[in-house]
Amino acid sequence: MKPVIALVGRPNVGKSTLFNRLTRTRDALVADFPGLTRDRKYGDGRMGDRPYIVVDTGGIGESEEGIDRPMTDQALLAVGEADAVLFLVDGRAGLTAADQQVASELRKLPKPVFLVVNKTDGLDPDSAMADFYALGLTQVLPIAAAHGRGVRALMDEVLAVFPEPEEAGEEEEPEDPDTVRVAVLGRPNVGKSTLINRILGEERVVVFDQAGTTRDSIEVPFERNGRPYVLIDTAGVRRRGKVHETIEKFSVIKALQAVDAAQVVLLVVDARDGISDQDLHLLGYVLEVGRALVIAMNKWDGLESDHKDWVKQQLDRRLQFVPWAKIKFISALHGTGVGDLFGLVERAWDSAFIKIGSNALTRMLEDITHSHPPPRSGRFRAKLRYAHLGGSNPPVVVIHGNRTDSLPVSYRRYLENRFRELLKIEGSPIRLELKSGD
Ligand code: GDP
Ligand code: GDP
Repeated sequence: MKPVIALVGRPNVGKSTLFNRLTRTRDALVADFPGLTRDRKYGDGRMGDRPYIVVDTGGIGESEEGIDRPMTDQALLAVGEADAVLFLVDGRAGLTAADQQVASELRKLPKPVFLVVNKTDGLDPDSAMADFYALGLTQVLPIAAAHGRGVRALMDEVLAVFPEPEEAGEEEEPEDPDTVRVAVLGRPNVGKSTLINRILGEERVVVFDQAGTTRDSIEVPFERNGRPYVLIDTAGVRRRGKVHETIEKFSVIKALQAVDAAQVVLLVVDARDGISDQDLHLLGYVLEVGRALVIAMNKWDGLESDHKDWVKQQLDRRLQFVPWAKIKFISALHGTGVGDLFGLVERAWDSAFIKIGSNALTRMLEDITHSHPPPRSGRFRAKLRYAHLGGSNPPVVVIHGNRTDSLPVSYRRYLENRFRELLKIEGSPIRLELKSGD
């Protein structure tokens, strides 16, 4: 499992700059949606062969009354769940009262906390750090996030704390490669447990998994129409059923790890509330890691038609960045629409793992460019020659040609949309990789 690294710090110390550096930019995809990019809170990154998850916990000490408790509940929750914390301070601004407040909270944590002194470019790192030793944190590292300086050394220290990922154990029985791994996600009370019980009540449950630690989700294998599934249950249905009913706190990190472990994400939303900011942040991560996505708008029973209209408009507006996501209006309580939901999940999975040979894909490329050739850009016109499938979940269409750098974003979108249409990709993102021979 990837270690989770939380970024904490006052506004303007450079958290987003560091976040972007740590997650680099697999973001060509995300870049067109400025709202989403600016708001990104969860990212996935890698240093060498070590993957990790980064969480930006947001600014602290922003409000007037916030000085006594500068961290928001959400930030505290994220920090509490993370495996390591990077506490960013501004090497130019020097030590502030809010920094001290936060440090005293962080010192209590039974986990590694790194004090990261940013903006040390053009400063003597040692004197830039000198002030901050007073915070009583032992691991202090200077960086210049804007220039990438010190970031590698920082991450080497941070990742050294965690065990190397193990080789896949040989004793473990390999999973059937056709298994559909679907994670059920959503805020508390949206109806995840009701939906899961309904699904499992109707299907033949093969085995129940053992309960994990608090952060782990429960994996429930089952079979439907002869097809193997693993349902990743972040609501803790089984555990909750055994002990007395306790409402689980929403765990962002559990949700992120469930996204990683899944192939298809089933996001459950309470239609009475609509899509929340938290849903959007989660969807940003789903998009970044390229998972297939089905959205269940739950509690559709008993809604006024005015309200239904509002929900549909809100979906159009807020989900513009995942136009390919499949949406189904359901009632988990009454079972309405739940069967169809499975159809969508299966289609999304089939789309994510589509198979097609290079010849057929190249013919598609020819048809697509024939009906609408790449535009001229300056003196050049890109030439697209052949294509092959370069990966799955999400499917990657690799296109070889010349001067592909000159292709405008609008034409890339056109290619993407046409491939999506011709390949009948539903409920899954698709990625294009353009390779240039010159
Ligand atoms: P956040 O509010 O903590 O997310 O901070 P941002 O990442 O938005 O950065 C705030 C400002 O500090 C921006 O103008 C950045 O360009 C600047 N900044 C970030 N990192 C560095 C750095 O390493 N050196 C310098 N000189 N400026 C930086
Ligand atoms: P979870 O926290 O996401 O697992 O949510 P639960 O499954 O525990 O459901 C929260 C509440 O919503 C319970 O009182 C459910 O009975 C209710 N609920 C769940 N699904 C529906 C639905 O489709 N329609 C209505 N009206 N209520 C629902």
